[in-house]
Amino acid sequence: MSAAVSKVLVIGGGFSGMTAAIQLARRGIEVDLVEIDPLWCPLGAGITLSGPTLRALDTVGILEKVAGEGYLSNDFDIFSPAGDLIVQLAIRPPVSDKKLAGGGGILRPVLARIFADKTREVNTNVRLGLTFETITQHQDRVDVVFTDGSASTYDLVIASDGMHSRIRRELFPQAPSPKPIQQSVWRAVLKRPQEIIRPSHWLGRTKVGVNPISATHMYMFIMENRDHSEWIDPADWPAEMARLLGTFPAPVLQTLVPELFAPHANIDYRPLSNLLVPLPWHKGRVVMIGDTVHATTPHLASGAGIGIESAIVLAEELLSHSDVEVALKRFEERRWERCRLVVEKSARLCEIEKCAGDKEEHAQIMHESFITLAEPI
Ligand SMILES: Cc1cc2nc3c(=O)[nH]c(=O)nc-3n(C[C@H](O)[C@H](O)[C@H](O)COP(=O)(O)OP(=O)(O)OC[C@H]3O[C@@H](n4cnc5c(N)ncnc54)[C@H](O)[C@@H]3O)c2cc1C
Repeated sequence: MSAAVSKVLVIGGGFSGMTAAIQLARRGIEVDLVEIDPLWCPLGAGITLSGPTLRALDTVGILEKVAGEGYLSNDFDIFSPAGDLIVQLAIRPPVSDKKLAGGGGILRPVLARIFADKTREVNTNVRLGLTFETITQHQDRVDVVFTDGSASTYDLVIASDGMHSRIRRELFPQAPSPKPIQQSVWRAVLKRPQEIIRPSHWLGRTKVGVNPISATHMYMFIMENRDHSEWIDPADWPAEMARLLGTFPAPVLQTLVPELFAPHANIDYRPLSNLLVPLPWHKGRVVMIGDTVHATTPHLASGAGIGIESAIVLAEELLSHSDVEVALKRFEERRWERCRLVVEKSARLCEIEKCAGDKEEHAQIMHESFITLAEPI
């Protein structure tokens, strides 16, 4: 059976868009990818890779590189604010017949570079610093005009332009917009003390976490309840993060305070939002994937993972059906429950954290979610 598409445009070169490009181009589909950022480099600290995300990276063919440049581990420690160990968990159930680590971490720009190298290696035609001007759908094709005046025709357009997607706003005006959740996250990249050899959380009135991202470094995050619209001068970010760490007397955390003021800490403050667009995620020959339709808060550390998975599943369906509409419906059916689970359970975890609520319910949700997410996609 021939594939549903022979020429595809991917708009947005984040993890979801790059995965779609890789999985289609390596099977002989002609793929153009346009990315608005001329440098094609996301900012930000580390990113946590769950077991299912590692499985997806293996499918994309970059797990070995990620393991080499990032950090993989199996267990997960939970401490009191004073640093007493509450529990050590074997983080995640096995997700594959292959022996994969339970999870890991990597610097976000490093992961993006590994993805970008693979995207080019499979002969995707990557164009940076531009986007679409117009998208015109026909029964059998989509005509696209780009901002540099060029134009081309495709069998399908894959919209992976992220949470604030212009394509979603223009082509799917009924779709909801991202919803602020009144919780923010502070992140910093720090040198890794010798005793930090696995992801660790300290649970107090708020939550502090660290995750190794290489042989030498880790990233730290601190969750904070704060009004979404409040502006904080970036010059004050190190002092704000140090203030929040003040309620966590654990010695290892306190030794990190001076480093928050070093330039390499690269502190990032981000009010969080989420988004779950109801099906359908496609209209004619334009389909949305990743944060464009299922953007989650980081409570299950699975947002990038489910975006990568969605792109893998989309490619599988496009390659195994000859009819675009059938392939897109199958894609949506396979992805809806899993993406809904991550967005909604993450939102519930956020609510529990914001009111210092039931820690048992929190642990139960995390445990059950990881078991479900370990199932095959
Ligand atoms: C604070 C925070 C921490 C997180 N931590 C984790 C974690 O630990 N683990 C995890 O798995 N997930 C995590 N996530 C979620 C994860 O970052 C996202 O789910 C993931 O990056 C989404 O990838 P994407 O490719 O779908 O979208 P994006 O990463 O948003 O990519 C969209 C791309 O499209 C480009 N673009 C935008 N508009 C246009 C346009 N008009 N034309 C062309 N290009 C365009 C953008 O420049 C960008 O490159 C976190 C999220 C947040 C906010």
